[in-house]
Amino acid sequence: MESREIEAEAPLLLHKKVECPICGMVFSGLTVKTGKVRRIGTEIDLRPLNKPLDSIKYGVYSCPQCGYSGLIRNYDKLTGAHKKLLLDSVAASFVPRDDVEEADAFSYDEAIKFHKLALVCSEAKRGRDSEKAYTCVLIAWLYRAKAQVIDRYTTDSDGNLLDWVDHDEKAKLVLECKAQEARFLKQARDGLVDAEAKESPPFCGLDIPTTEYMIGAISFLMNDLDMASQMVSRTMINRSANKKLKDRAYDLKEAIKARKEMEKEEVES
Ligand SMILES: [Zn+2]
Repeated sequence: MESREIEAEAPLLLHKKVECPICGMVFSGLTVKTGKVRRIGTEIDLRPLNKPLDSIKYGVYSCPQCGYSGLIRNYDKLTGAHKKLLLDSVAASFVPRDDVEEADAFSYDEAIKFHKLALVCSEAKRGRDSEKAYTCVLIAWLYRAKAQVIDRYTTDSDGNLLDWVDHDEKAKLVLECKAQEARFLKQARDGLVDAEAKESPPFCGLDIPTTEYMIGAISFLMNDLDMASQMVSRTMINRSANKKLKDRAYDLKEAIKARKEMEKEEVES
C-alpha cells in the first residue's frame, strides 16, 4: 500500500523549523534532504520524475496554527498588504490542526490538501497569476501521481488485477483523480496565459520559452491542438530557448501532427 512507501520516505526527509510569517508560530516543515533525490525522467508537460521519492509532494509549507500555506520558495515573500489580506481571510477562519507536527512523511492526499491550501492563500493575498498557475500545475501532477499509486497497488508485477481489490472502487478513484488532474491543468494553462500577458518574467521561476512550451504541452494534453501548435512554434523559434527545450518542442510538434492526422482519419472513415 501507499503507507509502506510513505514510511520509506521518512529517512529522506528533514524536519525544518519554520516561523510562520502570519501568526509567528514556529512549526516543523518537511523538506527533502539535499542529494537524496535523483531525476529519472521528465514527462511531456515537464513534470519531473524523481527517485526514490516524488519531491513534488514536499514543495509547500503549511502553518498548523493559522493555515497560511505557500510554496517553500515564496513562503516568506509577503508584503504588508499580503499579510493583512491573509490575516483577514484564511487565518481568521482557520481551525488549528495537530496533524502536521507529528508527521514524518505525507500521503498524496495530504500533499494535495496542503497544495490546495497554498492555492487558497495565493488567491486570498491576491497573488500573481504565475504563482497561482504554477500551484495548479503542481496539484495536477499530484493527482496524476496519486492515480499511478492506486494503479500500482491493484495489479501484480505483470499488470494482472489483484483479487483482493474492489475494482469498481479502484476505477472510480482513478477516474476521480484524472478528472481533478484535468481541472487543475486547465486552470494552470489559462493562468500561465494570463501571467504571460500581464506579468514580466520569470513566471514563478519559469522563463518565457519554458512557459510557452508548458502552455503548449498542457494544451496538447487538453486536446486543444490549435493552441498547442501555436505555442510550440513559438518555443521552436525562440532564440533564448535551450537545445533540450527545443528538442522537446520538436517532439511535441510531431505528437500534435500525429494526433491531427488521426483525428482527420476518424472524421473521414
Ligand atoms: Zn501561522
